[in-house]
Amino acid sequence: MRTPIMAANWKMQKTADETAAFLAGFLPLVETTADVEIVIAPPFTSLDRASQQLRNASVHLSAQNVSNEEKGAFTGEISVSMLQEFSCTYTIVGHSERRGLYGETDTLISQKAAMLLSHEILPIVCVGETLEEREADRTFDVLRTQLSGSLAGVPAERVPEIVIAYEPVWAIGTGKTATPEIAQEAHAFIRRELVASWGESGQQTRIQYGGSVKPENVFDLMKCPDIDGALVGGASLEPDSFSKIVHFEQQGGE
Ligand code: PEP
Repeated sequence: MRTPIMAANWKMQKTADETAAFLAGFLPLVETTADVEIVIAPPFTSLDRASQQLRNASVHLSAQNVSNEEKGAFTGEISVSMLQEFSCTYTIVGHSERRGLYGETDTLISQKAAMLLSHEILPIVCVGETLEEREADRTFDVLRTQLSGSLAGVPAERVPEIVIAYEPVWAIGTGKTATPEIAQEAHAFIRRELVASWGESGQQTRIQYGGSVKPENVFDLMKCPDIDGALVGGASLEPDSFSKIVHFEQQGGE
């Protein structure tokens, strides 16, 4: 049984004050939910305030990135032990914006994932093809390469704990959601790859879908057998909208 995991990726949005205001509005809307895991990934500068506000809440905190280095002369970087100070349960690695805008490679992402796991923070590892790659019929090759490269540093016994986010780049922030059929096809492929590499423990890994998820489409996406949650950008910025996504079961038929 894979517990659905709904994560908000705020990217470079919300100051610490805005984060506090969001949480003050959001927490009363979701506090009773026990059968869905809720994760908020604010900017680094909001982690301190958010961790204090979430102390007695069942909402988990995530960072959006981490250094692959433990400590040292790496100006502008944030280390895993710095994230531990804010009780981060998760950290996103390999988001397509990091891959595309900052040149992050599968090798670097794999080092980050391993660094996180060795400090008991769980990586949410993002993979996904561009529109060009999909149109050239290369989606599965790209996913296979990204998965094997980005997970190369993950010890086999930790595979059930990590989270994969399948985020087709053409669906991120564009309003163009993958249809449930397209998403399920990619998720089933990812599941098969995990099982082929790590055996049955790959059945326990949760695979989130990300790319223009909103209250109106989350129910149909979550009905797919291999979609275990969502990584949400734009629609996670307002308490009302993200709480509807968290309560995806109530969105059917709307
Ligand atoms: C994301 O940034 O991970 C994302 C999926 O964004 P959006 O929901 O806005 O497409």
